[in-house]
Parts: sequence; C-alpha cells; structure tokens
Amino acid sequence: MIISMRPHATREEIDHVCERIREFGYKVHSIEGEERVVIGVVGIGDVTACLESLEATPGVERAMRISAPYKFVSKEFKKERTQVRVDGHEIGGEEFIVMAGPCSVESEQQIMETAEGVRKAGARILRGGAFKPRTSPYDFQGMELEGLKLLRKAKEATGLAIITEVMSDRDVELVAEYADIMQVGARNMQNFALLKSLGKCGRPILLKRGMSSTIKELLMSAEYLVAHGNSNVLLCERGIRTFETATRNTCDIAAVPVLNEMTHLPVILDPSHATGKRSLVPAVARAGVAIGADGMIVEVHPNPEKAVSDGAQSLTLDQFRNMMTQLKPYFDLWKQARVAELAAAGV
Ligand code: PEP
Ligand code: MN
Repeated sequence: MIISMRPHATREEIDHVCERIREFGYKVHSIEGEERVVIGVVGIGDVTACLESLEATPGVERAMRISAPYKFVSKEFKKERTQVRVDGHEIGGEEFIVMAGPCSVESEQQIMETAEGVRKAGARILRGGAFKPRTSPYDFQGMELEGLKLLRKAKEATGLAIITEVMSDRDVELVAEYADIMQVGARNMQNFALLKSLGKCGRPILLKRGMSSTIKELLMSAEYLVAHGNSNVLLCERGIRTFETATRNTCDIAAVPVLNEMTHLPVILDPSHATGKRSLVPAVARAGVAIGADGMIVEVHPNPEKAVSDGAQSLTLDQFRNMMTQLKPYFDLWKQARVAELAAAGV
C-alpha cells in the first residue's frame, strides 16, 4: 500500500500516519519529495483495515493498494510515464534519446574525437567507462579519475551530457561530480550497498539488467534506488545469458514492452552488449525504436580494432552516422506516437 500525503501536510500529520501504520503492524518507508511525502507501507497480510482507517486520517490525500512487491516503480503507483531530466533533455518525453561513445575512455584524442562525431550524428549523451567491470583481473580496468576528467573535457567541448559507470559505493561521490547519469553495470544490478548509496547521490541512474536477472529482480533493484530517495531511474535491457552462442547475450527485446506495462520508468536498450557484434547493432537498435524504448545506449569507437574493450561490438563513427540516418524515419514515427500518447494522457 502507498499513502500519498496532501501537498504541504504538516510534520505532525505525517508522523501520525506513520504511527498508525506501525500500530497496524506494518513497516513504513517514506519518500520526502519537494511537494509531498509519499509513504510506502510494507508488510504481509490484508491491508484493508489499515487502508480504510488511513483514508480518513488528516493530511492523507490518497491511500492505494499495490499488489506488486515493487511499489514505487510500479504502474499501479503511477500511471504517467516518468520523465527524467538530464542537462536540458527529457528521457521518457517527446524525444528518443541516443547515448553513444566508447566502452572505455582510453585517451584524450579518442574521447574527444568520438564525442564530436556522435554529437554531429545526433547523440545527446556521451558514454564512456572510467571504472570498468572486467571479467579478468588482467584486463584494462579503466582510467579512473583521469578518465572522468577527460569526460568532463569532452562535455565542455561538445555540450554533451555524460553517462559513466560507478562500480563501488566508495566511488559514488567522486563519479557524481563528473557524471550527469550514473551507470550501474549488469554485474552490479544487485550490489545493494551501491544501490543504497546511489539513492542519495542526486544524479539520475541508468540501471542495467543483470545478465541472469529476471525483469522482476530488475524492478526490485530499481525499487531500492527509489526507496532510498532517488526516483530518477532509467532501466536498461542489455541482453541476458541463454544457451544461445551466436550472440554475446540474448537480446530480450520483449522486455521493453513488458517493462512499459509494469513500470512508469523509462526504458533504454543497449544493442551493443545485447549482441556483441557490430553488424547486428543497427537492426537491434531499429527494433528498440520500433518497440517503444525511450532511448538507446550504443558503443562507438573511432578505431574499434584498437579498442581496449568491446571492440567487436563497437561501431565506427561512420557506421554510427549511417545508422542514425537510417533510423531517422523510425525516430519520426516514434515521436508522432509519443506526442499523441502524451497528449491523450493530458501531459
Ligand atoms: C558497459 O556498458 O560497457 C558495460 C560493462 O555494460 P554491462 O554492464 O551491461 O555489461
Ligand atoms: Mn562495454
């Protein structure tokens, strides 16, 4: 159950509602927004008596029954799409947002050239890992602080917003100084200590689906972020592990509409990690636009052959430009559909 307090309900009213919830034997999880406080009621058993009582309690605007274990991220809690604002762009709004850049930040020359190229082709956000989660401890681990500084330089030169990965709760503050969006990698989707500290980082989060995680588990991880104070969450489908070996991962393309049914959060598709193979990226990207994702994140490298990570799935700048040109009619159709949907919803 979720209790939405009236805007500007008093502290006494809020405390009283929390008190009543505890008296009924449930736990309280509240989110203090700018305008209003929303209280999550967590526990087992029939909530009817508690719900009816709270509906009549001063300061309460609405009490809603929510059956899913993830409450704040569910469609039951909020029907309207969440729009996440990043540096003047709205993800989940009227534009399909493209994030592009190398897997890893490798050098000034590499990141600047990529940033300029992807910006010209229509990307809004520059990706680039400074902290890299690598399967082997002997592989390149990322440029760390030096990489973050190069990303800042690229932002200053191009105006692109920055998305970069944070791997540990120890690095949250540092990465938040440089990133416009904090990326949580597939391997860290259930790093709960990291999720908890990201709740308070003040930056939007791109949460990647774990390679062996169900959609429900992805939503539970998103719930951690929201329950700990951060409702600016983007969900990312990046392929899952199956018996198939023709692609690096199996792109669960249906996860996009499934998530659109289950949650109000924006959904981003990663056709690069989902396929592992550059020749497959444009087709899967097209599918992502057509199936109603809110954006995509694509790996692009000026010289993939020399890339220190994920070269095989990285597009060259030319290939990225061509893909964006070929996607233009799909972006236009996407926009028409989205504008009509938002107008119908009265947004
Ligand atoms: C990446 O974006 O480079 C990355 C490591 O992705 P994932 O966490 O999805 O494997
Ligand atoms: Mn990568």
